[in-house]
Parts: sequence; C-alpha cells; structure tokens
Amino acid sequence: MYGLSEQDREIQARARSFADELIPLEVTAELAGGDLPAGLRAAHKARAIELGLYAANMPQEVGGGGRTSLQQVLIQEQVGRVTNALAWVCATPPSWLPPVATDDQTERYVRPAARGEREECYAITEEGAGSDVGAIEATARRAGGDYLLSGVKWHVTSFFAADYAFFQARLASGEHAGEHAMFLVDLPAPGVRVVRVPAYMHTLGRDHQHPVVAFEDVRVPASQLVGAEGDGMSFAREWFRFERLMVAARCLGAAERLVAEMTAFAAERRVGGGPIAGLGAVQQMLADSLTELFAARALTYETARGIDAGTDVKVQHAQCSMAKLYASEMAGRVADRAVQVLGGRGYMREHAAERFYRELLVERIWEGTSEVQRAIIAGQMVKRGPGLLA
Ligand SMILES: Cc1cc2nc3c(=O)[nH]c(=O)nc-3n(C[C@H](O)[C@H](O)[C@H](O)COP(=O)(O)OP(=O)(O)OC[C@H]3O[C@@H](n4cnc5c(N)ncnc54)[C@H](O)[C@@H]3O)c2cc1C
Repeated sequence: MYGLSEQDREIQARARSFADELIPLEVTAELAGGDLPAGLRAAHKARAIELGLYAANMPQEVGGGGRTSLQQVLIQEQVGRVTNALAWVCATPPSWLPPVATDDQTERYVRPAARGEREECYAITEEGAGSDVGAIEATARRAGGDYLLSGVKWHVTSFFAADYAFFQARLASGEHAGEHAMFLVDLPAPGVRVVRVPAYMHTLGRDHQHPVVAFEDVRVPASQLVGAEGDGMSFAREWFRFERLMVAARCLGAAERLVAEMTAFAAERRVGGGPIAGLGAVQQMLADSLTELFAARALTYETARGIDAGTDVKVQHAQCSMAKLYASEMAGRVADRAVQVLGGRGYMREHAAERFYRELLVERIWEGTSEVQRAIIAGQMVKRGPGLLA
C-alpha cells in the first residue's frame, strides 16, 4: 500500500503478526461457545499491551499509544482478520473521556483504562431507544449529594468483562430536567442486575456477551457525572467518528481474509478438469470482491489521513459515515460471495467464511445503522454540497 511511513508499516506488521497468532484458536473458540481455555484471554491482553496494540487511540499524556488515525486504522484492519472477538484484546478505551474527565476521573478511570487495568461497557440503548437515543427513558434523580440511576439497558456489550459502565439517563429534576446526562458506574454495584443474556448471531465468549441489564436506584456520588448535566453523549461526537472509522477498518481486514481464502480455494478446487477459478461465474465473485475491498480501503485510509491533516470536523463526520457504510456493506457482500465460492465448506462453522458471514452483519447495525449513516451523509450533502469530499 502506497503512502505509508516506516512507522506505519512497522505497527501494521506487528498487528498482522499478532492476528496471525490468534487465528489458529478461532475454531476452538467457535466450538466452545466463544470461550478459550482459562487464562488465555488475559495472556492475549498482556501480549497486546506489550506490543503497543492496546489503547493505541488514547493520548500519550494519559499513558496511551497516541497513534495517528491512520495507524489506528492499520491496527484495527489487521485485527479485523480474526473471528470470534479474539482480537478485542486490542481494545480502544474511551479516548473521548480525557478532555471532559475531572482530575479524579482521570486518575480513577482514564489512566487505568489506558494501562488495561480497567475495562468499560456502554449502557445506553434501551428497548424503545436505539437509533433514536433521544428517546431513552432511564432516569437520574438527584438525592442530596448523589444521583439515583434507574433504567433497563439492552445490548450491554462486554458487561461481564467490564468493571465500570457508562450509563446514559434523562434528568428527573432540576434546571436540566428532561435533558440527558452520562454517569460512570463502578461494577458490580447494589441495584445493578442482569435481567437476561440473549443469544446472538455471532459466537463470542461470555466476557463479550450483550446482556439486558437493569439499574434499580443505583446510588452514585455527583462526582460520577461525566461533563455537565445536559451533556449526555453530545461531547462524544468525536467518539462516533472514531468508532465508525474503526468499524470500517475491521471490515477491511475481514474482507481481506475472505478474499484470500476464496481465491486460494478457487485456484485449488478442480471441477471438470480445471480449477473453478477459471469459471466466469466464480471469477466475477472474486473480481468484484477484490475491487470493492480496494475501493473501501482507499476510502477508509483517505478518511483517516484527512483526520490526521485536520480537515473540517463536519467533513470528517460525513466521511467516517461513508467509510463505515461502504466498508460494512462491502464486507457483507464479500462474506456472502466467499460462502458461495467455497460451496459446502463455506457453510461449515469451522470455516472463517461461515463465521464472518454471521459476525459481519452487526457492523451494519451498531454505531449507527446503514440507514442512519445514509441520513447523516445526505444531511451533510444538502448543507455542504461537494465540500464533503474536501
Ligand atoms: C451485538 C450488538 C451489540 C451492541 N452493543 C451495544 C452496547 O454495548 N451499548 C449500547 O448502548 N448499545 C449497543 N447496541 C445497540 C446498537 O447501537 C443499536 O442496536 C443500534 O443503534 C440500532 O438501534 P435499534 O436496535 O434500536 O434499531 P432501531 O433504531 O429500532 O432501528 C430499526 C430499523 O429502523 C431503521 N431506522 C431507525 N432510525 C432511522 C432513521 N432515522 N432513518 C432511517 N432508518 C432508520 C434502522 O436503520 C433499522 O433498520 C448493540 C447492538 C447489537 C446488535
């Protein structure tokens, strides 16, 4: 890939070789419901920290890697080649938090998160509020110097691995009544209860499941408020940009692996005396997949370079939506073709194509569905015209 510095290539190679260490464990994890033998996740996390692949997004001042956006994309692209969330140990703690954290929050959450000593989960979505975050019904009631938090949150990813949660609620009283606020909740806490642990399409271990979690009059001191009352997630727009770009990056890695697998298979599998790679129908699936991967990679890298060069923030926002939209839909199409090219083997859970076919679908849903990304892009087109591609 052109235009990468020596440092970019070095971190890319390090992430690739770590992903290659994890890939042989995928089938074991898949057949064990997503879990690996005891102690392995902790060992992988320690290795990710040692290799500088953990908290690459966090500023150096708080102990993070302080990597450029392009380097973060290069890391997440490589670890996106791994299924079953085995590479989630290359975690990206909340880099949106340092600018709004109090000194106390910096010491208790930001720095430990950058060191890998604390892990977070996000308790925002509810049964009746997903794309429309504004519709949340969870409440925060002032009680002297504390708040009482109540609400039922859905899809709380990695709740079982987390030791604190970001909890978004609507203020029940005071000057900002009805507005949103975000709180840090240490886990476990009295009043926090798992309602149920639904099964999902992908096979991830217990640590990364997405339970429905009830918060019932959970008492937190006012010092657990993030930013100010009324802020909610408004200060976290940068986080949405970041997360959408990282989704795009991981989809590139997944598609690269799928393209490699289907190409190797097509070259080797012989039907009627010749390899299936010689059949026009198969060639079309191979060629379309690589072409779309190339386009998605160019879009994602260019968006990251724009962020590093300081392009207008609204332009960044729309471009990250474009990268997420295109890369996630591209990866879904590539996974579909990979299963088809591989025939019966592609339908076996021991094959990466089958696992990616299930795993990649959520990339079109979380961090804003494809439809929501299109609404963002179209909204900016009307406001800014062709400036969006600046
Ligand atoms: C595996 C998984 C993990 C998750 N992890 C977390 C987590 O850790 N924390 C958390 O808080 N949440 C999490 N989520 C929730 C996720 O962010 C939401 O599912 C997502 O934002 C979509 O919201 P929804 O499910 O309510 O869908 P809905 O908002 O109900 O959408 C239903 C349909 O309507 C469409 N739609 C909605 N609004 C619009 C619009 N304005 N324009 C066009 N179409 C629209 C959608 O695109 C979709 O097709 C997770 C979800 C999943 C599946």
